Amino acid sequence: MPADYQAPLNEMQFVVTELCDFNQVAALPGQQDLEPSLAEAVLSEAARFSQEVLSPLNVVGDQAGAKVNAQGEVACAPGFKQAYGQFVEAGWNGLSCSTEHNGQGLPQLVAAAVNEMWNASCMSFALCPMLTAGAIHALERHGSETQKRLYLPKMVSGEWTGTMNLTEPQAGSDLAAVATKAWPLNESGPSGEPGYCIHGTKIYITYGNHDLTENIIHLVLARLPDAPEGVKGISLFVVPKHHVLANGDLGEANDLKTVSLEHKLGIHASPTAVMSYGEASGAVGYLVGEPHRGLEYMFTMMNDARLQVGIQGLAISERAYQQALAYAQERVQGRVLGQTDAKPIAYHPDVCRLLGQMKSRIDAMRALSYEAAAMLDMAAHCPDSNQASAFQSRGDFLIPVVKAWCTESSTDITSMAVQVHGGMGYVEDTGAAQHFRDARITTIYEGTTAIQANDFLGRKLARDQGAEAKKVLSELQDTARQLSGRGHEGCQAIGAILLKASAVLEESIDASLEALQKKQSVAAFMGSVPLVMLSGYVLGGWMMGRAALVAYEKKDRAPFYERKLQAALFYSQQVLLPQLGLAHAVKAGQQAYDQACAFTQV
Ligand SMILES: Cc1cc2nc3c(=O)[nH]c(=O)nc-3n(C[C@H](O)[C@H](O)[C@H](O)COP(=O)(O)OP(=O)(O)OC[C@H]3O[C@@H](n4cnc5c(N)ncnc54)[C@H](O)[C@@H]3O)c2cc1C
Repeated sequence: MPADYQAPLNEMQFVVTELCDFNQVAALPGQQDLEPSLAEAVLSEAARFSQEVLSPLNVVGDQAGAKVNAQGEVACAPGFKQAYGQFVEAGWNGLSCSTEHNGQGLPQLVAAAVNEMWNASCMSFALCPMLTAGAIHALERHGSETQKRLYLPKMVSGEWTGTMNLTEPQAGSDLAAVATKAWPLNESGPSGEPGYCIHGTKIYITYGNHDLTENIIHLVLARLPDAPEGVKGISLFVVPKHHVLANGDLGEANDLKTVSLEHKLGIHASPTAVMSYGEASGAVGYLVGEPHRGLEYMFTMMNDARLQVGIQGLAISERAYQQALAYAQERVQGRVLGQTDAKPIAYHPDVCRLLGQMKSRIDAMRALSYEAAAMLDMAAHCPDSNQASAFQSRGDFLIPVVKAWCTESSTDITSMAVQVHGGMGYVEDTGAAQHFRDARITTIYEGTTAIQANDFLGRKLARDQGAEAKKVLSELQDTARQLSGRGHEGCQAIGAILLKASAVLEESIDASLEALQKKQSVAAFMGSVPLVMLSGYVLGGWMMGRAALVAYEKKDRAPFYERKLQAALFYSQQVLLPQLGLAHAVKAGQQAYDQACAFTQV
């Protein structure tokens, strides 16, 4: 049987209150009640909910999946509807939504830990509130007053859910190819706003249909008749499953249909729908914001959504690690080197190595993704506009790294968890295989790893010629020097590795930017995924270095801090140092591209 999930509360609290700048976030306008004790209480309650209500759904959801009938009605897996009701009842849906729309207004920094718990306990379930949150952000920022009044209160409470409809068969990474059509109706729609007829097919729509709530608010990208070609001609529409009348009452069903649900590798309980709009009488939608600016609106919320998927990678890794550790501490196989008594496989050098890799990488992923969340809080709410824009630049820089690195790492870590189980990992009984299957989507949706890498190099690094990167590296070097100055061998070793890593990353960034400047784009982008991954390992090392500094000051107080020092040292020597070799792939450029084409494109 799969091991139960235990939320790693002490690890989360360490990152939220000791590693990230909790005090700075708590000083933001609207956060006057945010004390460490409040954060602790929220996390403890979320831990209870995730362990008792969501975690038991994980295997059931995987085995039963979501089902669609001939009428296109979707039934979620057993237990999901009841758990969703409890989730909404407890007020979890609006945790980080603004208080203006009845949310609780908690910062992303605290929500990051809560979202980690939802995703670790049952990723298929967590996707539903995650997509709703994306739709809420879009309407909060760009919706009309009528749209905010009609949809937001019920979406924030969770009475209705939201979806994002971007993808079409010919438009995946390349959203310029979106072909769904929208044209103005000569009359208002049932909500009283000017109506648009929406016609087209969307694929892979997460929670595109389900039986958890009475209404679903779809956000749909489509083209108006006069739209320019490409990305500058895409508009955003809100298309409710059931019409919402001007007084807020529910009207008739809109003309949209679930054609089918995808059969997929993992997240079986998350319904992934093919949606058809306007096949019969015409689906009625309402324009969000101005015409032709839909993709731009989507991009304003991209940071949040990408951070959430990075956190999914972290969460599923933690769950897989817990499972692997529990198994390795039970299973006995052969004599462990240097031991006379029977010891479980956790003590075999290679199993110990796998567990150390998993745990130290998870610590680094958690620290980096929560740090990015804190940057988004500061960017959104810092009253000083110069400071807010500096935090925004830092958040913009970190997000593609968090998304790409945490999700790619999750496929490694969940695979290591399978390996620790041996054959019991490959068969489905232990649950290790499910984590491996579930994790695999995280590198694909919300922009594949290559798309994150393109964004990192082509936008984030290129637009300021690496200026933000240099700031980060200078802070990293400062951490390294502080470590080197501590009278502790371990800290000094971490400091020395961090200085080396900083030099390697700086050189790699310079080489990529130089290739771009010389218009050698193929050479530059041949190295963009290795560059974003190298950045993840190095920035993860920086966070581990910062953790070591905190731990060093407190190491006589509790074994927890001694373990933090050991994890940071292990990460530096066993994870970061070997990964510095990625710099070769960053710089291999045109030659590597030509070689790969020569032996593959035959
Ligand atoms: C389970 C699931 C849930 C999803 N949920 C949603 C949802 O709720 N809403 C929604 O709108 N969509 C959703 N998607 C769609 C998802 O976002 C897309 O699958 C993703 O953006 C990739 O598009 P694609 O599948 O067409 O792959 P493609 O774009 O065809 O990519 C194929 C390969 O080519 C690479 N590639 C493509 N372009 C480039 C480039 N410019 N540079 C380098 N490499 C490139 C990619 O990295 C990838 O390796 C979901 C998908 C799945 C499988």
